[in-house]
Amino acid sequence: MRRYSIFAVAREALRYHSGWEKAWASPEPKKRYDVIVVGAGGHGLATAYYLGKVHGITNVAVIEKGWLGGGNTGRNTTIIRSNYLQDPSSAIFEKARSLYEDLSTDLNYNVMFSPRGLLMLAQSEHEMRGYKRTVYANNLQGVETRWIDRHEVKNLVPILNIDGPRYPVLGALYQERGGTARHDAVAWGYARRCSAMGMDIIQNCEVKGVRTEGGKVVGVDTTKGAIDCGKLAIVVAGHSSVLADMAGFRLPIESRALQAWVSEPIKPTIDVVVMANLVHGYMSQSDKGELVIGGGTDGFNNYSQRGSWQHVEETTRALIETFPVISRLKMLRQWGGIVDMTGDRSPILSKTPVEGIYVNCGWGTGGFKAIPGSGYAMAELVAKDYSPLAAEFGLHRFKEGQFIDESVAAGVAH
Ligand SMILES: Cc1cc2nc3c(=O)[nH]c(=O)nc-3n(C[C@H](O)[C@H](O)[C@H](O)COP(=O)(O)OP(=O)(O)OC[C@H]3O[C@@H](n4cnc5c(N)ncnc54)[C@H](O)[C@@H]3O)c2cc1C
Repeated sequence: MRRYSIFAVAREALRYHSGWEKAWASPEPKKRYDVIVVGAGGHGLATAYYLGKVHGITNVAVIEKGWLGGGNTGRNTTIIRSNYLQDPSSAIFEKARSLYEDLSTDLNYNVMFSPRGLLMLAQSEHEMRGYKRTVYANNLQGVETRWIDRHEVKNLVPILNIDGPRYPVLGALYQERGGTARHDAVAWGYARRCSAMGMDIIQNCEVKGVRTEGGKVVGVDTTKGAIDCGKLAIVVAGHSSVLADMAGFRLPIESRALQAWVSEPIKPTIDVVVMANLVHGYMSQSDKGELVIGGGTDGFNNYSQRGSWQHVEETTRALIETFPVISRLKMLRQWGGIVDMTGDRSPILSKTPVEGIYVNCGWGTGGFKAIPGSGYAMAELVAKDYSPLAAEFGLHRFKEGQFIDESVAAGVAH
């Protein structure tokens, strides 16, 4: 694989860009792999990448029913932060955030990580107390966040109305190194490196069945035929329960549509990410100039990648009080993705009742930010059967009642 560099760009400019090679290969499946990862979203690809990079396991296939990055990874609003309340959460999210800092260099692919700062607005006394508590917890965990008062909020976001009658801004939980990254680029960067290590990324190939013998996984049935494997990692977000059903076990996951929408592009207006969890909305500005807006999940389970109109109306109406300027904008497009929700709003990285099958899911509405840390931990779990970062996120917690309650930090949950 040729390295991307300024010299490569200059060389290709001189020969009409005729020399770029394909970023990743599109092979037919082999008969057997040491590890099969189902799902070529960010988490699946990152799992494969760290399996190769850290553990030297490269006889790996990543199997994807659509196109890589076409699930939630390519549909999310790209918020990155690690200001969670509980210790296990902040450990894995901060690992992810810190890996994002150098990810472009590590992958030799510009993922456009932009640590522009992230605010979670406190718009009620209750939220204020919750966020202050999170700041104290973060300080103990070594995660840099701080509480800022409403005037500092206004300085950072001049377009904000801090005196709204229903939703006044009382202050905010501020993470200066939180921000955004380019979602497709994260998937593409990992895919390119996986392919360069000799792994097979097999797109347009749906897993239809999981084969087991004597309680142990032996392979999968796909639309491109049967493929054998030593280990199987299920990393399919909103479709996790469907895959678990194929393998013969159940997951405590609900699948719901979450949606987002963008405005027409405008000049630079807001250079931080603002989350207003009380009104269930959040906003940032993309490099193209669009205001990227997202809301909460549908209140019922479904597999449609659309979302309902009532949410668009509700969230936009609520955000207009906090950001009056957006009332004059046209909204360009809206889309949805199927997210995988657990009861305690924390992910699952776990062994399963079937030997050799591992599951990574439950990131719900907030897993983009976790991709590098999740992939790192999942690779360790698959390679060694144990990962300190993943230890508390096992399926055992639902039986033992050891929930990792992130309902405050999750808020709108991105
Ligand atoms: C509108 C929206 C906004 C969001 N905003 C944020 C945000 O701002 N910040 C944040 O941190 N998170 C956000 N998220 C959540 C985040 O997108 C997800 O948690 C994350 O992308 C999940 O990644 P993944 O790799 O697990 O899943 P996905 O990217 O969904 O990948 C799973 C893949 O599995 C494939 N698959 C499913 N079934 C099969 C099968 N049978 N065979 C083969 N392949 C299969 C799918 O096609 C899919 O490509 C948002 C999500 C949505 C929908």
